[in-house]
Amino acid sequence: MTPLRKSVVEIFMSEIESRDFIRQIIHDDLASGKHQQVVTRFPPEPNGYLHIGHVMAICLNFGVTAETGGRTYLRFDDTNPGKEKVEYVDAIERDVRWLGFDWQDRLTHASDYFGQLHKAAVRLIEIDKAYVDSLSAEDTRTYRGTLTEAGKNSPYRDRSVAENLELFERMRNGEFADGEMMLRAKIDMASPNMNLRDPALYRIRHLSHQHTGDSWCIYPLYDFAHTMSDAFEGVTHSLCTLEFEDHRPLYNWFLEQLKPEHLPRQIEFSRLNLAYAITSKRKLNALVEEGIVDGWDDPRMPTISGMRRRGYPAAALLDFVRRAGVTKKNKLIEMGAFENCLRENLGEESPRRMAVLRPLKVVLSNYPDDKVEMMEAMNHPGRPEMGTRSLPFSRELWIEQDDFMEEAPRKFFRLKPDGEVRLRFGYIIRCDEVIKNDAGDVVELRCSYDPDTRSGTGRSERKVKGTIHWVSSAHCIDAEVNLYDRLFTEVNPNKAEDFRAVLNATSLETVSAKLEPSLSELSSGEVVQFERLGYFCPDSETDSANKRIFNRVVTLRDSWAKLEKQAMQQQG
Ligand code: ATP
Ligand code: MG
Repeated sequence: MTPLRKSVVEIFMSEIESRDFIRQIIHDDLASGKHQQVVTRFPPEPNGYLHIGHVMAICLNFGVTAETGGRTYLRFDDTNPGKEKVEYVDAIERDVRWLGFDWQDRLTHASDYFGQLHKAAVRLIEIDKAYVDSLSAEDTRTYRGTLTEAGKNSPYRDRSVAENLELFERMRNGEFADGEMMLRAKIDMASPNMNLRDPALYRIRHLSHQHTGDSWCIYPLYDFAHTMSDAFEGVTHSLCTLEFEDHRPLYNWFLEQLKPEHLPRQIEFSRLNLAYAITSKRKLNALVEEGIVDGWDDPRMPTISGMRRRGYPAAALLDFVRRAGVTKKNKLIEMGAFENCLRENLGEESPRRMAVLRPLKVVLSNYPDDKVEMMEAMNHPGRPEMGTRSLPFSRELWIEQDDFMEEAPRKFFRLKPDGEVRLRFGYIIRCDEVIKNDAGDVVELRCSYDPDTRSGTGRSERKVKGTIHWVSSAHCIDAEVNLYDRLFTEVNPNKAEDFRAVLNATSLETVSAKLEPSLSELSSGEVVQFERLGYFCPDSETDSANKRIFNRVVTLRDSWAKLEKQAMQQQG
């Protein structure tokens, strides 16, 4: 008899199976009994901060093991001491944790395995699969050949095992200068795959390492260290981005020669690229070093720390990469799609507040001087359970400059001379007089309010077409608000000859705003919607007791949509 319901495990497994090709492979490997448990790793090099592309790799590696009861290592791929820093190590840990992933006791470093890697290298020499080369850097390059021409064997390739062992030992003991010798795999200088033309395994760097200090002066190269670290940790599925596809034969070569107990399998997926953003650590580093942005966590940066400071919720990032999916095809994802993900997430969750970004003074001439009324305002129009708050209303108010037009077109339903508008949660007001300064700018509006029109009282049936937001000038708080926009004007700044040439000159505008009093209490990480304006949150870095700074997370609507669509089409 067939059971009526699928078991939870079956449903779970079919969900895994259906999502993407990597989950399909994992599903099959568990179903066939090839593996009892899935082991993955996220292996960042601590040479910069993590960015949106890494979010995808983190979610994939930690995701597949969370879904199947496996385990995931956070492994620092720290084999390049010249570029790596403790600052980056700390930032990476903070970011992975903030996304909600837990490596438990599985925090490792490629450098934890320097001893084992050294042994593996010695083993390769012993089986005549590695040799110490003394070619200069320049000769190494010419001997390597080109994509269309085979390389040439180094004259040192046939050194005896004994001589290689001795030289490698002396390399390790610091008897040679940087670049004087290197250990290379002995594979095939004529291979059409350049990665197999006797790749370097170890080079000499007389440099202190951020994790191992001065214990070593020889350092393993990425391919060797990475493959063997995977094997040492019992990684079953080594998930990496497509640029490593050509390295897979080398990955497998190491495993064939060294026959470790655990044999990991490398599987490649496409990188996540976001329109209008750069996701190369080298270029992000240049933005920071050259002072183009205010550090790695500048809210315009596509780094995890920048996005956190900007106010992007971790849940929205996870949702975004889930929707982007894991594929084999490199693609550029629209910034609009990313921002819509944010809007969906924030729209549900964020309380509504009132704020005026470019204030224009309004004086209600028929409102008593010392009177203050408390207006009841909904915290979320779609979610009554989020409650209400009281907004002070008084004779002098601030409204948004562009909610008033002196010479307004017929369809302008906000405030104009002799026109009427409703103040949200307040009264209907009429503009009686426009006051200008000597330069002719409008600096104040004299208005009158209709006492019969208070919101929620039902006393007047009178309706007007427009509703605008406001704050009471006697009660509001002052704040600086950073209005962030895209950092680049080109949909794919990675393709620009110089990314500096396609910077968006107006990616940051700072305005002096007036906020409703309750906003003095909001803490960083809490996002609210300023009604009619967008989503905002307090800045985590520069806020101080007497000065509030808010960041715009995202606008309510996508003003770039059309432009981006066109640009994406041109990209093909
Ligand atoms: P960059 O080229 O910017 O320096 P990287 O790939 O060298 O980035 P790593 O620190 O080596 O950065 O990356 C750690 C892991 O994250 C790797 O497995 C890598 O494949 C993955 N990864 C990096 N960038 C992306 C991306 N844009 N999309 C998906 N995964 C990525
Ligand atoms: Mg890398």
